[in-house]
Amino acid sequence: MQELTHFIGGKHVAGTSGRFTQGWQPMTGEQISRVPLASKAEVRAAVENARAAQPAWAATNPQRRARVLMKFLQLLERDNDKLAEVLAREHGKTILDAKGDIQRGVEVVEFACGIPHLMKGEFTDGAGPNIDVYSLRQPLGVVAGITPFNFPAMIPMWKFAPAIACGNAFVLKPSERDPSVPLMLAELFLEAGLPPGILNVVNGDKEAVDALLDDPDIQAIGFVGSTAIAEYVYARGCATGKRVQCFGGAKNHLVVMPDADMDQTVDALIGAGYGSAGERCMAVSVAVPVGQKTADELMRRLITRVESLKIGPSTDSSADYGPLVTAQALERVRGYVDLGVEEGATLAVDGRGFKMQGYEKGYYLGGCLFDHVTPDMRIYKEEIFGPVLSVVRANTYEDALKLCNDHEYGNGVAIFTRDGDAARDFAARVQVGMIGVNVPIPVPIAYYTFGGWKRSAFGDLNQHGPDSIRFYTRTKTVTARWPSGVKDGASFVIPTME
Ligand code: NAD
Repeated sequence: MQELTHFIGGKHVAGTSGRFTQGWQPMTGEQISRVPLASKAEVRAAVENARAAQPAWAATNPQRRARVLMKFLQLLERDNDKLAEVLAREHGKTILDAKGDIQRGVEVVEFACGIPHLMKGEFTDGAGPNIDVYSLRQPLGVVAGITPFNFPAMIPMWKFAPAIACGNAFVLKPSERDPSVPLMLAELFLEAGLPPGILNVVNGDKEAVDALLDDPDIQAIGFVGSTAIAEYVYARGCATGKRVQCFGGAKNHLVVMPDADMDQTVDALIGAGYGSAGERCMAVSVAVPVGQKTADELMRRLITRVESLKIGPSTDSSADYGPLVTAQALERVRGYVDLGVEEGATLAVDGRGFKMQGYEKGYYLGGCLFDHVTPDMRIYKEEIFGPVLSVVRANTYEDALKLCNDHEYGNGVAIFTRDGDAARDFAARVQVGMIGVNVPIPVPIAYYTFGGWKRSAFGDLNQHGPDSIRFYTRTKTVTARWPSGVKDGASFVIPTME
């Protein structure tokens, strides 16, 4: 069994707190590692390393910083198979899906390679008599990221790539459930030429998170995880004067209009509902067919498809999805399926009895499909985060729109239709951050920004894209006058450009 470490100041460092958590392999249910849980002192050591390294990195010109990122990209490509294999083994998703996880992170590293251009300030020549005004973007200093289990490559890269490109030093606290890939990413970045101390990884739980939140040398925190913890991190981080952005849970709806291409819609629902065992913040967990006929047709097709889903170990390249991340996650999701039955929803496909032959101790759950789910049910209101799709029937388009708008979460949403007017109206009026038109998982590309609305996000700037550069820098505005003959004496009124 492997004993994992922290990565501080460019070196693997063994945990000294004496506290560990067990790391499991979801496809077999075996323990594969011990993960150290950092103490306040270990977090502090990471912050001190970051603080010492940051000024020289910030003073390295942006083109040189970009070159290190470019080299990092080459190494990510070189080690792609190894990273995907480790990721799938620790997380449970299939190797193909693990490659997608890495790729969506790579795209943000590619975006961050444009840092010489992205960090350019503004300049106004002759804003007043002999006066020029310009703005600078400067890094914040030491910043931190706290990330969830479900994208152990993508989300850490979304956080540290733009932050480091901007000239900050970074302390990452990845999920304790799958920390191996984040550690490998830090090693690769070092190999690419990143100075030691610019990217540190501390493994841990609430104690490490609280130490980051309270550390006076950390200027900004980016968090991704469940809403309850997002809210906590946001409140405590803001109270200690940090810049904080927190992304939380989701309940993503897919509205099916009567004119939708039904083949395309069903494919979309199957992939987005059950891919990665439904453990994606952009998974579609609610289908909203509009009209009785649409609903009946959708259910008829969905039942056959959900019944024929292929579940397998992460190493099976023909599997549609693999196991859930932990035994607790499996128990929780199963509990929601039991609850849905108690609440009176129709369980059209019941995956609870599924057993994976040869992997009986793995955390597998067959695809579950509920019909006649209503908005008052907990299985509708709460995030299940498993291979469970709920169908909520709507009589009209307005009813479907209202459902999406009334839900407390507002991460992603989709509409499937051939009607441009309906799609346009939906995009304009829906109270959700990321919208798909005939696209089921509308995760924006790297040079746009990613973020939900309502209780899916706290803070006012999104992840990646231009918002990430704003989040990881602060602006300075310089108003400069060169003397050349202007002698206007002391002025006691507010200066204007007249
Ligand atoms: P989680 O909230 O359990 O953990 C997220 C991070 O917070 C981890 O690093 C964890 O160690 C830490 N943490 C856990 N409990 C804590 C506590 N009590 N105090 C302080 N820190 C704590 O989330 P998860 O289960 O790892 O991830 C799944 C959740 O993340 C889902 O709700 C999913 O929707 C959400 N998510 C959201 C987005 C988004 O962009 N909106 C993206 C991915 C995942």
